[in-house]
Amino acid sequence: MFGSLKAQPADPILGLLAKYREDQNPQKIDLGVGVYKNEAGHTAILDCVKKAEKYRYDNEDTKVYIGPTGSPVFNDEMTKLIFGTHKVLIENRARTVSTPGGTGALRVAAEFINSCKAGATIWVSNPTWANHTGLFEAAGLTVKAYPYYDYENKKLDFDGMLAALKEVAADDAVLLHACCHNPSGMDLNQEQWQQVVEVAKDVGFTPLIDMAYQGFGVGLDEDAYGLRLMAEHVERMLVCSSCSKNFGLYRERIGACTVIGETVASTDIAFSNILSVVRVLYSMPPAHGAALVETILSSDELRNQWYAELQVMRDRINGNRQLIVDKLVENGVTRDFSFITRQMGMFSFLGITPEQVQRLQDEFSIYMVGSSRMSIAGIANRNVDYLAQSIAKVL
Ligand code: PLP
Repeated sequence: MFGSLKAQPADPILGLLAKYREDQNPQKIDLGVGVYKNEAGHTAILDCVKKAEKYRYDNEDTKVYIGPTGSPVFNDEMTKLIFGTHKVLIENRARTVSTPGGTGALRVAAEFINSCKAGATIWVSNPTWANHTGLFEAAGLTVKAYPYYDYENKKLDFDGMLAALKEVAADDAVLLHACCHNPSGMDLNQEQWQQVVEVAKDVGFTPLIDMAYQGFGVGLDEDAYGLRLMAEHVERMLVCSSCSKNFGLYRERIGACTVIGETVASTDIAFSNILSVVRVLYSMPPAHGAALVETILSSDELRNQWYAELQVMRDRINGNRQLIVDKLVENGVTRDFSFITRQMGMFSFLGITPEQVQRLQDEFSIYMVGSSRMSIAGIANRNVDYLAQSIAKVL
């Protein structure tokens, strides 16, 4: 049975990480992997998470099955975190399930869309997170791309995006990044969101909003602006969120998938279909990460501590954007990299050639993906001079 198999290429980002780990150069810099790192280059456990783990250790009294929805308290807290005091909550038109990470949420959403219409088309931004296409195709969807990032001018191709979305069919789905677009860092501003919402309303497509970085851009509410606006104006939509980055719970695999329907009754029917998808995919989500998040969000003390820790992460990333741009200028680089400061979240494309990316790796032990996407959190005060000097040399 296994005889016909062909070896599959390793994930390029994980391959890059393996090379980085083997590299003996003490000045090596990892700008590849998309995880937050502190100034020391470490992905530490948040203090609020440590406290929630202690609480859980002292209070957990069973390991019995949790059920396909996961913890109702987590689901409720996440829905409020995503939507605030939105009318869809007042109208009781949002239902959330806990999922194994944001990836699990996306797969549930994709399977759900496929059960609404087999082989339905989903539109993704060009470019988008590397896993979106494979994940949607694995669920049976047809993936098409709408223009998004203008590589040459390092800005949003908003006219191209809007024109493409106007041509989408009413029974298609459209994936939108809520904030901190991965991989470009280029987000829609509020006015642009308003225009996209208008098109969604006119065309009638189903938005699927991926929010993997809530709180990493401007703030928890600000980062959900577009998603909340969309939910005010469309009849149905899906939201996939992740606690990997903002709670630093990467390996605990915890996220959420929320469905919004036109009426309470249609939302209930949609939700029952989501639960059927969950049952045959992985039956029930892991409980540990959800228990930590719900403990944090339901305690004033831990929630406030989380806000503060999230702000430290957000400020560091935004500070790093300015830092690298300033250091490039300081090192005599005349090319304009100021676009980096106008982008948000964990990533930006440096905009150099694949050959230059390779030289950074071979000659300077600086690791980033071939597209020149760099993970901003890998920049630190201790390495930024070397980074800027190295970039200046390969330019
Ligand atoms: N969506 C986007 C845009 C992402 O960047 C990521 C992770 O990098 C995910 C979803 C998946 O997150 P998780 O690690 O929670 O599965």
